[in-house]
Amino acid sequence: MARRPIIAGNWKMNNTIAAGVELVKALAPLVKDNNTVDIVVCPTATALSGVGEALKGTNIALGAQNVHWEKSGAYTGEISTDMLKEVGATYCVLGHSERRDYFGETDEGVNKRAHAAFAAGITPIICCGESLEIREAGNYINHVVNQINAALEGFKADEVAKLVIAYEPIWAIGTGKTATFEQAEEVCKAIREAVAKKFDQKAADAIRIQYGGSVKPATIKDLMAQPNVDGALVGGAALKAKDFSEIVNF
Ligand code: PEP
Repeated sequence: MARRPIIAGNWKMNNTIAAGVELVKALAPLVKDNNTVDIVVCPTATALSGVGEALKGTNIALGAQNVHWEKSGAYTGEISTDMLKEVGATYCVLGHSERRDYFGETDEGVNKRAHAAFAAGITPIICCGESLEIREAGNYINHVVNQINAALEGFKADEVAKLVIAYEPIWAIGTGKTATFEQAEEVCKAIREAVAKKFDQKAADAIRIQYGGSVKPATIKDLMAQPNVDGALVGGAALKAKDFSEIVNF
């Protein structure tokens, strides 16, 4: 069975509630006729509720940018799965390279967050990717496969089938330097093979793997033509309704 494409906008630390609502109000009519792609926007925590309200009745799903593994308690600055469910979030970005690089996120933390989200019915979008240094040293496939194996530890094959992975080479994020289609395909294929090895072929055939890193309307079509690229995680271009709609409607 063909995998349904999934395109998600990661707004990062951008957009107040008002700006986020304005953005999705401009976006919704531009993508309303698209029934072939799962469309997700991931606002910052404070805008989740307001944007979630504005998304009601649209074909755009709500995603968060992180979630904690504990149900509640003394975890200052964190958000629980119940809090995300309350605002209608059905996806959650986890292990983004900015969280790993600036905020000490670890593979173990990503794994715990992924289990909590999945158990709560929130689909994790698990990010992985290598730095320029690792790419140039030539061991980027190993690096990414290790990140994914760690993030997926403890899941069952039929659960893995429902997850989303985002391959985001760090050197391509926000730099305007998109990976070539061949580079994106090479790593997405290696991730799928790693899933087949760790779990089974059925899980590998079903899991959706996005590419992320300076995706633009001009580059999405060729990316989506790659057999192992099932969608995109979009940063900068997701902040403009027209650009994001053109990506979604590739
Ligand atoms: C991202 O943050 O996930 C991302 C891919 O950003 P950009 O599209 O701006 O490179």
